[in-house]
Amino acid sequence: MPMEKPLLDVRNLVKHYPIRGGILRRTVQYNRSVDDVSFTIRRGETLGLVGESGCGKTTVCRTILRLTRPTSGTALFNGTDIFKASGRELRGLRRHMQIIFQDPYASLDPRLTIGESVAEGLVIHRIGTAKERTERVRGALEKVGLHPDHTQRFPHEFSGGQRQRIGIARALIMEPELIMCDEPVSALDVSVQSQVLNLLRSLQQELGLTYLFIAHNLSVVEHISNRVAVMYLGKIVELADRQSLFRTPRHPYTRALISAIPIPDPTVRSERIILQGDVPSPVNPPPGCRFHPRCWMARPLCKEQEPSFEEKEPGHWSACHFAEEVS
Ligand code: SF4
Repeated sequence: MPMEKPLLDVRNLVKHYPIRGGILRRTVQYNRSVDDVSFTIRRGETLGLVGESGCGKTTVCRTILRLTRPTSGTALFNGTDIFKASGRELRGLRRHMQIIFQDPYASLDPRLTIGESVAEGLVIHRIGTAKERTERVRGALEKVGLHPDHTQRFPHEFSGGQRQRIGIARALIMEPELIMCDEPVSALDVSVQSQVLNLLRSLQQELGLTYLFIAHNLSVVEHISNRVAVMYLGKIVELADRQSLFRTPRHPYTRALISAIPIPDPTVRSERIILQGDVPSPVNPPPGCRFHPRCWMARPLCKEQEPSFEEKEPGHWSACHFAEEVS
């Protein structure tokens, strides 16, 4: 049976930001924010993309949406190359790819009513009559658990969790196939986080949505992702299905992130791996394996040779010379 084509196919994505200096403002260095990243997302699945702040995960998301231009690489959405799309094609693609932002306070215009905010995408894409838009706004608010009569209210009248629901309604109203969730629960109280995660999961089941779910914390993606990609300093260092990644991590960085997840059972003790130092600058990444200055398993080879990203077992990829020794 032929394999179904992925909904999103990102290959060798690179995004380097030039750093200018001197009187002539010439490019003197590059910030290697995203450095050769490849992954696919199958229709209906959730891919978690995890890493510390500054690892490049949000840049991956912004580049795929073409909010910023890539340096090189391709991204195929339903077979169409996003980076080569004309302005008109891009507008069409963007209807099917929506984003939910991290900060529900900053992502809503305080001067617009909720009804206006949620309908914005329909207005931009000239979809429906005013009456039809109103009906769709009410339907989207209901879907995310808000009262449809709240359309005339303003963002300040809602809590953080409710505002994030409004952000989800803004995305849903476009009937997208893919939603990029950029740290959608990081700014919320822990008690509200699970409600929003449950809402995203039930909407996925009901509407057959596909998610790219970005987080800096593995515990957030643990229950929502089918597969997880771990990013470090501009590169994906491990990618596997959720069970395989959590049971037998094949990269020391992933193992350290897993060890930091609190275990609710006080009788179970786990060995926490504390990473030394900070994430190095993406302007001057360390030679060889980029993780070697912080890796407790590092050996001389790691400083000299960059490990390639290889499939260590079916569907489980890692960029570590000693992947078999990690678990
Ligand atoms: Fe650590 Fe070496 Fe593996 Fe890099 S290649 S993660 S430094 S053991």
